[in-house]
Amino acid sequence: MSTCLFCKFVSREIPTQIVYEDEHALAFRDINPQAPTHILVIPRMHLENLAAMQPDHEGLIGHLLWVCAEIARQEGIEADGYRVVLNTNRAAGQSVYHLHFHLLGGRSLGWPPG
Ligand code: AMP
Ligand code: ZN
Repeated sequence: MSTCLFCKFVSREIPTQIVYEDEHALAFRDINPQAPTHILVIPRMHLENLAAMQPDHEGLIGHLLWVCAEIARQEGIEADGYRVVLNTNRAAGQSVYHLHFHLLGGRSLGWPPG
């Protein structure tokens, strides 16, 4: 059995607020939102982070970005703008080691990020 929290969302072992799913991806609301829209988009398959990406994951990662863009449209944040973030390893602040894109929008976002 996987001990990974996000794998447990995929298997429905732990419930979460799912906003989108398909054959390869799952998206749900972040439990500690940093913006009015803060959604995590993950692959169904367990992949630790971008550093674990292999060439045969190119299609999957591209698909996850397409899902981010689709959800941004659904959430109504496309016109004003949004940010997609992918934290990789400790210095970037990765805390859950199942690859996830953060989709953030609904407010002005500062740059550079902290
Ligand atoms: P990161 O720090 O990039 O690894 O992001 C992990 C994200 O997962 C954080 O934004 C957390 O708020 C979020 N998170 C942690 N636990 C849960 C949970 N049970 N449900 C939804 N989001 C979560
Ligand atoms: Zn996992």
